[in-house]
Amino acid sequence: MIYLDNAATTRLDPQAAEYMTALLSEEYGNPSSAHAMGRSAKSIVESARRSAADLFRCRENEIFFTSGATEANNWAILGSAMQYRSDHRRKMGHIVSTAIEHHSVLRALEAFEREGGSYTLVESDSRGYIRPEAIKKAMRRDTFLVSVISVNNEIGTIQPVGEIGELAHERGCLFHTDAVQAAGHIPVSLGSGCVDLFSVSAHKMYGPKGVGLLYIRDGVKILPLLYGGMQERGRRAGTENVISIAGFGTALESARMNMGDAIKRVSQMADKLIELLYTIPGVEINGSGLEANEEIFDLFNTRHPGIISATIEGVNAEAMVIALDQRGVCASAGAACATGVSEPSHVIRALGKTEEEAKNTIRFSIGRYNRMEEIEEAFEIIKECVQQIRQ
Ligand code: PMP
Repeated sequence: MIYLDNAATTRLDPQAAEYMTALLSEEYGNPSSAHAMGRSAKSIVESARRSAADLFRCRENEIFFTSGATEANNWAILGSAMQYRSDHRRKMGHIVSTAIEHHSVLRALEAFEREGGSYTLVESDSRGYIRPEAIKKAMRRDTFLVSVISVNNEIGTIQPVGEIGELAHERGCLFHTDAVQAAGHIPVSLGSGCVDLFSVSAHKMYGPKGVGLLYIRDGVKILPLLYGGMQERGRRAGTENVISIAGFGTALESARMNMGDAIKRVSQMADKLIELLYTIPGVEINGSGLEANEEIFDLFNTRHPGIISATIEGVNAEAMVIALDQRGVCASAGAACATGVSEPSHVIRALGKTEEEAKNTIRFSIGRYNRMEEIEEAFEIIKECVQQIRQ
């Protein structure tokens, strides 16, 4: 099996797997319990929180563990909306976001609208880049939140979130970013203060599934989504998912230690695959070739090192995914969450592509456990599948 679907999910870091296995039968204490078993579980959770704060360069008390990025994104949007309503005599206000967000943002915005709020989605340019001026233009007097994805999960474009965050702050708005595909993959620094809310999912960065976090900048007020116990300093109730948080901690630590090397290896493999893909007539790579932006990401590039979106003329991506799967290559026809939905991807459509082009767009996403030999082998299979489908 050659796994080129790392944007859907990543393999669990072997050290995280080992640590979680060791804890699974022994570490059953409840972190809220006052006794030794409780204290031990609590120290595991707090150590993971420290690893998150170290990686994202923020304070530990700004990290709130959640069940994943879907919850973190919903919390950022609906929690800030409920806070705004409660502070503004039940007025609902307005949110600015983009047309290339993940469904966990878009669907939360729709829910907000059903409750009486309103939102504006800013379009990207044809390369999947959000212009800060467009965000500025979309802001209204009652806008309280701007939410922009850091790195798009389908095309890998990195947005100028630092600049957008500053614009939001100039107008007194909060700034949220869905950082799922940035966290653990590219350097992030929350220390500059231009981001208020930042969502992460562990399984996209070699941690376990079902756990993530929301960073809430010190002093930022948003209402909870979940009410109950006093976990997570009273802001996110529910007994902590101790074992998964422990594995997440190892993944965060491992990202901090290995990021430089991983970026180098992953981009070399991606560059190779792009070069090979271009040898096939009728291939276009989406979302590449932008000028550098050096905002909160002290960056080298404007594309995620491992995400490649290719539109292949005459090749339906769903047929291609099946053909590749039969030969042992895992890729994706868009976001995994949208699999089974016959609609062409909203992100590819937002680039100005036709419905046909969007249906012919496939994503290969490379991760740190891939090897260069696999890329070359996968390409031979890709070439055969393209020929077979075009015939
Ligand atoms: N945002 C982005 C950009 C994603 O890629 C994903 C995962 N597909 C999510 C949010 C949601 O993460 P999870 O499914 O782990 O909650």
